[in-house]
Amino acid sequence: MGEYVEKKEETKINKYLKWTKMKNIILLLLLAASMYQQARGQDKEWKGKKCAVVLTYDDALDQHLDNALPVLDSLGLKATFYITAFSGSVQKRLQEWKQLDKKGHELGNHTLFHPCIGGAGREWVSKQNDLRNYSVRRIENELRMTNLFLQALDGKTKRTFAFTCGDMKVDDSLFINGMKNDFAGARAVRNEMHKLNEVNLYNIDCYMVNNHSFEEMKAWVDKAIQTNSLLVLLFHGVGGGNSLDVSIAAHRELLLYITQKQNEIWTAPLIEVAEYIRQQQPGFKH
Ligand SMILES: [Zn+2]
Repeated sequence: MGEYVEKKEETKINKYLKWTKMKNIILLLLLAASMYQQARGQDKEWKGKKCAVVLTYDDALDQHLDNALPVLDSLGLKATFYITAFSGSVQKRLQEWKQLDKKGHELGNHTLFHPCIGGAGREWVSKQNDLRNYSVRRIENELRMTNLFLQALDGKTKRTFAFTCGDMKVDDSLFINGMKNDFAGARAVRNEMHKLNEVNLYNIDCYMVNNHSFEEMKAWVDKAIQTNSLLVLLFHGVGGGNSLDVSIAAHRELLLYITQKQNEIWTAPLIEVAEYIRQQQPGFKH
């Protein structure tokens, strides 16, 4: 009889142990499922794609119209062109620059005269275009005048800005601080890429192309996909003759690669990506 009770107790204990084990397994399964869901969510947070890649072209060069635009348009990729309004190419080919908006590209603001901080190593900066000789009011006026010029071309009142030479300060103050209502975002020149919730919209990092090969640029794109990041690429010359350059072949190959990966990469002008980030970042104040 005593043995029977003991056995019954034993069965009870076994049942309890089994249940505890089961419970742990169920909990682990639930945890794994929620982690998977979370990872899947992060994986698709760029408009349903794993990452965003933005193609930007600085300084309004003839080569952008002649060598970059035909490739972009043939592949259906939309880019941001940072226009220096008084550049030689804009003066000569205004009507062609105006067409970019109609093709779905962004006309970004890159000042009227391309002022930069001069001094040692920057001897090419002329006295009148030296940011050290500017006041905050003067740079603000120049940027607002550039916005007005671009609005005359495309009719738009929202666009992004790119710091000339990556310079952000006049008289020791960050001039973008007073201009957050004028721009949806601003692109800097630091070689970094960030996840959606880590992007600083008024200091958007980018990778500057300086004679990089296709393989090197492809590695950046692959890293953006792997890390669910925003990759902004900055091109100057396309096809030789510029101190910052990309070969026509490497540029075309990269754009083709991005096109082939469109199921994983969201490609859009920076204005669209910046507005999307703004919606997605909870508590964004500006
Ligand atoms: Zn520039």
